[in-house]
Amino acid sequence: MCGWVLREADGIVRNRLPGLAIPTLSPYLARSEDFMAIHTTRMLIIGSGPAGLSAAIYGARAGMEPIVVQGLQPGGQLTITTDVENYPGFRDVIQGPWLMQEMQAQAEHVGTRMMWDTIVEIDLASGSPFKAIGDSGDEYVGDVLVIATGAQAKWLGVPGEQELGGKGVSACATCDGFFYRGKKVAVIGGGNTAVEEALYLTNHSDDVTLIHRRDELRSEKILQDRLFANDKITPLWNKAVTGFVAGENGTLSHLELEDTVTGEKSTLEVDGAFVAIGHAPATGLFKGKLELDGSGYVVVQPGTPKTAIPGVFACGDVMDHTYRQAVTAAGTGCMAALDAERFLATKDFAAKESAEA
Ligand code: FAD
Ligand code: NAP
Repeated sequence: MCGWVLREADGIVRNRLPGLAIPTLSPYLARSEDFMAIHTTRMLIIGSGPAGLSAAIYGARAGMEPIVVQGLQPGGQLTITTDVENYPGFRDVIQGPWLMQEMQAQAEHVGTRMMWDTIVEIDLASGSPFKAIGDSGDEYVGDVLVIATGAQAKWLGVPGEQELGGKGVSACATCDGFFYRGKKVAVIGGGNTAVEEALYLTNHSDDVTLIHRRDELRSEKILQDRLFANDKITPLWNKAVTGFVAGENGTLSHLELEDTVTGEKSTLEVDGAFVAIGHAPATGLFKGKLELDGSGYVVVQPGTPKTAIPGVFACGDVMDHTYRQAVTAAGTGCMAALDAERFLATKDFAAKESAEA
């Protein structure tokens, strides 16, 4: 059952202050047994993006009194974007951070406890209840565990990229392509994602340049065939993007390029640039403890959020390298909560039966 088990009269604010970076705490405060708290719940959720918060909303309404451990990016990836136009229910453009605030408020309203902490250790081998340790030193114990740690787009790490995020530089054509209707755009990368992003962008733009650092693509042949057949897309081979440069209005005006064979420098004028060099799922915590695929995504039973460990569910981008949308993350979060509820009902029934026998 849910409840707090504090080991001290807790006058100390540890990790619950927004903006208080957990790593700034002294190792003593962060790790001391004296200040450690144990938080128990029926449903422990790691991650506070659309997947984790949707799981929390359903879990709370099913009486599982969930705890959500938020991690270093409370609200998840949508908090680093601006306009969101494809989340159902809103006729007008909404802001990503606002949407996530509303999701969190809804989750809290129905009984979710939000924790400012990041899970740094987890024990899955012992089965339910699952124990996790936060960066604060606190322990979290959940009868079921929902993994909703998401995935992060990989970035080039070159000048201007971060500063122009949301001002011409993006990592999601499905999300932001619409804003470049009739404009000149570029996609950077040579894998399936880059080719799919380039093809998708031709719905909005007649001038799409695919910039790749080699002279052959890594993507599947069928996608390459579609790409080469599309006269709206121009491949630019052997080019590395070395910088994103703003124009007078503060938005992206051009890319700085360097030829990877000759070293020759050049520029390319674009209104939008989509970095598509892969995603990294946040699964370091689960390596060796849970089955991950070759790209590091959590493996689930097809069409479900169930992992190979009974009582452990995964939802959202951490288990989905194909769709990676807020609405699909929310959908699988809902599925995780429904399956979690069924798992607990079966477990409780079995425990009752054996107690009565
Ligand atoms: P995330 O949103 O990635 O959330 C992961 C959560 O896990 C975070 O809260 C993080 O702090 C937490 N976490 C990670 N590790 C730990 C840990 N060890 N302990 C505790 N917590 C942890 N999708 C759309 O549908 N429409 C859009 O317009 C759109 N725009 C986008 C714009 C940008 C710039 C980006 C990057 C993505 C966009 N997306 C959009 C995609 C969408 O944001 C993701 O598909 C969605 O956020 C995935 O949700 P998630 O809950 O699975 O994971
Ligand atoms: P990926 O296959 O790892 O491809 C990444 C691409 O980005 C590669 O072409 C790579 O170049 C390039 N790249 C990496 N780092 C770079 C850097 N620093 N600078 C410039 N270029 C860089 O990633 P992905 O395309 O996101 O695909 C990930 C996985 O998801 C794959 O398994 C893929 O098949 C799968 N996926 C499948 C589909 C589908 O089935 N429809 C769709 C999307 C993704 P090099 O080629 O030179 O290494």
